[in-house]
Amino acid sequence: KAVLDNAEELSKMAVSETKMGNWEHKVLKNRLAAARTPGVEDLNSEAMSGDNGLTLVEFSPFGVIGAITPTTNPTETIICNTIGMIAAGNGVVFSPHPMAKAVSIRMIEIINEAVIQAGGPQNIITSILEPTIEQANNLMKHPKVKMLVATGGPAVVKAVLSSGKKAIGAGAGNPPALIDETADIEQAARDVILGCSFDNNLPCIAEKEVIAVEQIADRLIGCMKESGAYFVASGEVLARMENLLLVGGKTVNKEYVGKSAFKIMSDLGIPCGEDVKVISMVTDCGHPFVQHELMMPVLPVVRVRNVEEGIKTAIEVEHGFRHTAMMHSMDVGRLSKFAKAIQTTIFVKNGPSYAGIGFGGEGFTTFTIAGPTGEGLTSAKTFARKRRCVLTNAFNIK
Ligand code: NAD
Repeated sequence: KAVLDNAEELSKMAVSETKMGNWEHKVLKNRLAAARTPGVEDLNSEAMSGDNGLTLVEFSPFGVIGAITPTTNPTETIICNTIGMIAAGNGVVFSPHPMAKAVSIRMIEIINEAVIQAGGPQNIITSILEPTIEQANNLMKHPKVKMLVATGGPAVVKAVLSSGKKAIGAGAGNPPALIDETADIEQAARDVILGCSFDNNLPCIAEKEVIAVEQIADRLIGCMKESGAYFVASGEVLARMENLLLVGGKTVNKEYVGKSAFKIMSDLGIPCGEDVKVISMVTDCGHPFVQHELMMPVLPVVRVRNVEEGIKTAIEVEHGFRHTAMMHSMDVGRLSKFAKAIQTTIFVKNGPSYAGIGFGGEGFTTFTIAGPTGEGLTSAKTFARKRRCVLTNAFNIK
């Protein structure tokens, strides 16, 4: 309730501090995190009963968790981590991204006030006040911190995995959306635009490139235009876009991460309406806009001869992150084949990427998707230790 009551203030604050994203979409993300993150109901004990007695397996806290959070979903990650970690009985010390520290600390204050109002202890969640990489490292080394949870790019995941402590890493992705000739093309076009433009493409699960089977590629592009894509047709404009959005033609220009399509178009000097949701172009699969996790509403389309080539291409551009992939197809065999081949933590069929985290799709939500360490979509049980308690020769009532 505390988050729901403050969702608008927090969302506006996040956009103004990080200079990324879309506040209306962040309201939806914050509400989703508050309403759909499981709590204690996620922790079901197991009982094994027989002639030799009763054995219980129960979830226990780790103690104090050090949680390192990103700039892309700053409050959302704090909300879902807090609910899951507290439900499992832990306390938390957050190390927020330095570029999102004010909104992250405000979020923590609001949650702590709500905890106290509900009769809970003071400071069950706390934060580093002046977060830096050095402070995050101090947190990782602190002897009283028993578990580490990192939500961010490859560097922080590597750092927690090298800590020698129990660590959960939720890392980068580069989600492809594969569309074959059996798909409902209008819906597929609508879905990829909705997913890609959500919060200006900041979610790690958001569509980063489309792989389209040749037979339907032109129709798909037509439908994407109708759904709000601006297609860059000239090589000269594409070259200017590469200069703007990449540094030295290679790495992502962080200035443009989470900026709107309208802002990118304006900076390119191309007049357009605010209704342009994504900027698209047809490229080959080696193009840096396909290869890099841009986190901008820029959606390259790669044409492939058939679904087999599409699966191969999608696996290649996902770089083995095993994070998220989408497929639009009416062929169950192909859907299964791609899901098996790409091995992503989240695989969405015939929907926008965010259906995979419970927004318009079934299932609970999280903003910490632990691909590298395999916990998948994290929830309270992820942040708990399993313990076994054995009573011999009693309490069996069979
Ligand atoms: P980031 O890696 O720059 O920062 C994330 C956090 O890690 C911040 O708190 C930062 O201060 C800290 N950090 C970074 N390098 C560190 C190091 N060497 N040692 C200690 N701490 C370090 O990421 P970001 O820009 O905030 O977020 C975007 C990235 O995070 C994208 O790659 C995105 O895919 C990924 N992400 C993944 C998930 C997921 O659930 N898998 C969720 C959100 C974001």
